[in-house]
Amino acid sequence: MSQQDYDCIIVGAGPAGLGAALYSARDRFKTLVLEKFYPGGQIATTDRIENYPGYEQIGGPELIEKMVNQATSFEAEIKTSAEVSSLERLEDGRIGVHCDGASYAARVVILTPGSSYRKLGVPREDEFRNAGAGVSYCGTCDAPFFKGRKIVAVGGGNTAVEETLHLAKFAAEVTLIHRRQEFRAQQVLIEELMGKVNEANSNLKLRLDSVVTEIGGAGKVESVRIKNVKTGQEEDFGCEGVFIFVGMVPNTGFLDGFVELTENGFIRCDCGYLRTATPGVFVAGDCRVGASMQLITAVADGVNAAMWMKQYLRNPGWWNAPVSDWLQPGGW
Ligand SMILES: Cc1cc2nc3c(=O)[nH]c(=O)nc-3n(C[C@H](O)[C@H](O)[C@H](O)COP(=O)(O)OP(=O)(O)OC[C@H]3O[C@@H](n4cnc5c(N)ncnc54)[C@H](O)[C@@H]3O)c2cc1C
Repeated sequence: MSQQDYDCIIVGAGPAGLGAALYSARDRFKTLVLEKFYPGGQIATTDRIENYPGYEQIGGPELIEKMVNQATSFEAEIKTSAEVSSLERLEDGRIGVHCDGASYAARVVILTPGSSYRKLGVPREDEFRNAGAGVSYCGTCDAPFFKGRKIVAVGGGNTAVEETLHLAKFAAEVTLIHRRQEFRAQQVLIEELMGKVNEANSNLKLRLDSVVTEIGGAGKVESVRIKNVKTGQEEDFGCEGVFIFVGMVPNTGFLDGFVELTENGFIRCDCGYLRTATPGVFVAGDCRVGASMQLITAVADGVNAAMWMKQYLRNPGWWNAPVSDWLQPGGW
């Protein structure tokens, strides 16, 4: 099997990967992006983005097309249907990257395989899966589309509580449905939530010890079926939106043993320079610890990784240097 050589290989052509590709290729590094499906990642599945600076509103596929054109105009190479299955350290110190039927090598690898929202797994969830139809997994992204509407949120962790508080700024009424009596979120968030719930005429309500068992509607969300797990009682609850906050699953299974992962599968890195524990391997976007899980932060991560790559190539010993404030920004 022939092995093709690059300066930089990027794993995943979502926003983080394409941001990294633009900067790496424009800096004249021989750059390859390997993408399992086709370019775009999660953002390609939405037709309305309102929080990417420079565009008041743009669709995901349109924005991705522009990102791809921009990166390839500087000669970044993008291979689609190229799922990376493993990586290894080669004898000469470079990193070998393996896909089905092809192998590549590079001095630097930037990992950008993203994460997927954990689904609730109830009937008709997929059918309504976009903010226009009423199912969303991101309050920060989609709350404004539900202004003045009656919606529900599902979950009990930090994200669920924080995002529900955010939704309450827009919705006419938001009901947070949680399967237990106690929340897993930080105490400070729980106090904020309860403070809001207990306000006179609050638009934020709770349904505890309850789960959503089905989503209903014709063409768009019109109701959810709520079951009380203690009494077994079920009811149809009218609403126009369902926000699901039950976790993220990073797409990092293929990296186990090559880079350090957290217990939940996120890639460990120093959040300053995005270095993993494996020299020459950076990480960017939704798959890393501490990610903000937003389009702009994923792009910015990719750009940062490509900028810090230059520092590593100039001086590989820098990899073990602590994150510090003496190092001047790497470029412009
Ligand atoms: C429906 C929806 C709407 C959203 N709306 C907004 C919004 O309005 N504003 C906002 O800021 N954010 C929004 N987000 C969040 C945003 O899309 C993500 O934060 C962003 O896409 C993360 O980018 P990423 O590049 O890190 O990962 P991803 O977008 O997940 O891209 C990762 C890429 O890597 C590929 N990949 C995975 N494993 C491999 C492998 N082994 N080999 C090769 N390739 C691989 C995947 O196929 C994918 O293309 C939305 C998300 C969704 C799902």
